[in-house]
Amino acid sequence: MKIRAKAGTEDIATVYIAELENGGVIEFVESIQPPLPLEKKWVLIVSTLCGCPVDCTFCDAGGSFRKKLSVEEIFSQIDYIVSGKFPDRKIRTEKFKIQFARIGEPSFNPAVLEVLGKFYERYETENFIPSVSTIAPKGAENFFEKLLDIKNSLYPENFQLQFSLHTTDRKRRDEMIPVKKWSFGEIADYSERFYGKGGKKITLNFALEESSPVEADVLEKYFNPEIFLLKFTPLNPTAKVIRNNYKSYIRPGIEKFGLIEKLNLHGYETLVSIGELEENRIGSNCGQYISSTRESAETSGESYTYKINKVNS
Ligand code: SF4
Repeated sequence: MKIRAKAGTEDIATVYIAELENGGVIEFVESIQPPLPLEKKWVLIVSTLCGCPVDCTFCDAGGSFRKKLSVEEIFSQIDYIVSGKFPDRKIRTEKFKIQFARIGEPSFNPAVLEVLGKFYERYETENFIPSVSTIAPKGAENFFEKLLDIKNSLYPENFQLQFSLHTTDRKRRDEMIPVKKWSFGEIADYSERFYGKGGKKITLNFALEESSPVEADVLEKYFNPEIFLLKFTPLNPTAKVIRNNYKSYIRPGIEKFGLIEKLNLHGYETLVSIGELEENRIGSNCGQYISSTRESAETSGESYTYKINKVNS
């Protein structure tokens, strides 16, 4: 893997753009969460596929799938970032989180399981939080059974599992995530087995588009508030979001969101994760920087506007 370019700023987030040995380009990210310094919390977001076959209508990573990354290709993203700060691989931060969420649906790649299984052989860290974010595609049942075993044996209390729902309207969900997926009932059944006392709640993520419904009665039918946490994030200003004229329900500067207050009344713990506005401009959130720059004519002032700096390696 060769780092070809990077963008961003050290005090929020840096996106690295790398070329794989046999061709193909991936991205990975390191970020801190101001006002917390790196000694308190450090978050890495790594790619698990080169491109993604799912082609969600809001994500620039879709539509250009080349291959699954190998165990070493996933580790090399982590190694690259870790060696910049902690060359001895002893990661001295109070919370060290790795999100398997940048480019690619992680359950399509069994190498993710191997990386999770071998993590402690490679790095020393006090409080490691692995985070897998998935659309729950049909056919990935084997991956999820193995993930459950790994979580139980290595990460019983600190594993973060997140399902990307985006809406409770099934038809709308199918339009936005155009592959066969687990039903809400199947997600709920698996999550009830996955959730362990003392562990983290399972997150249902909504990168919410203004016209996508989130109905409390649908949530209540399937998702027990004792087990599930609802997380609302802005729709990132990807080239596809701009092209599809999507409007994000979550926007910076708004104090209260009526929908979320209503869901709180139904007993749900909710989290609004707006992140740094600057982070959107850097392009460190989900979505693909490379693609958006390729299609730069479609980006807007809100989109990725940080300069990409070429790296000679
Ligand atoms: S949101 Fe995830 S599953 Fe959908 S296209 Fe992007 S990387 Fe793939």
